[in-house]
Amino acid sequence: MTYQHVFNDGSVCDLPVGKVVCVGRNYVDHIKELDNPMPTEPILFIKPATSLQPISQPIVIPDFTKDCHNETELAVLIGKQITRASRDEVQAAVAGYGLALDLTLRDVQKTLKEKGLPWEKAKAFDGSCPMTPFIGPDELADPQDTQLKLEVNGQVRQNESTKLMINKIFDLIVYMSGFFTLLPGDVVITGTPAGVAGLKSGDKLALELDGRFNFSASVA
Ligand code: ZN
Repeated sequence: MTYQHVFNDGSVCDLPVGKVVCVGRNYVDHIKELDNPMPTEPILFIKPATSLQPISQPIVIPDFTKDCHNETELAVLIGKQITRASRDEVQAAVAGYGLALDLTLRDVQKTLKEKGLPWEKAKAFDGSCPMTPFIGPDELADPQDTQLKLEVNGQVRQNESTKLMINKIFDLIVYMSGFFTLLPGDVVITGTPAGVAGLKSGDKLALELDGRFNFSASVA
């Protein structure tokens, strides 16, 4: 199945599919659960367009891991090209909000981190970024105070407000745009709150944004 950005009302988005720019360690409770040091500035990494798949498509855990973790994150669809953007330019460039799973092979990442190597094998594999349909930017009352929730097999695993982000959405995208041009159709994902844990074959996932937008997913 090829991936295309879509909106929650069922309409297809005419933006191309680009890269996914991501931030690590953007919620204090998640930094503590993995016993990571507090970052002094945002930790950025990129997933390629081939990481994107519709949330409805079963998640395939690669055969080179024994520990594929969920990370439920607020996703921002970029609608305009921005380079070294101001806050106002960032705000004007937002085309929608959704939920992404930043699937992370924790065992592979641990080995790479210990060797001081980049994280791509753990974070950028095919299908590593299941994405929900996007909601228009005016449909979320306050993206910086909206609830992200993940249930796995009926048990709540992640449930946190985006108000607890260390680097706020627009500041984060301003920062990113100082290093990488963001193009129409790129996606920014904004870090995971606590509650990351292993997924296994047959798991049923229920994601909820803002207490009212619901999406389901499953692990093959
Ligand atoms: Zn993440």
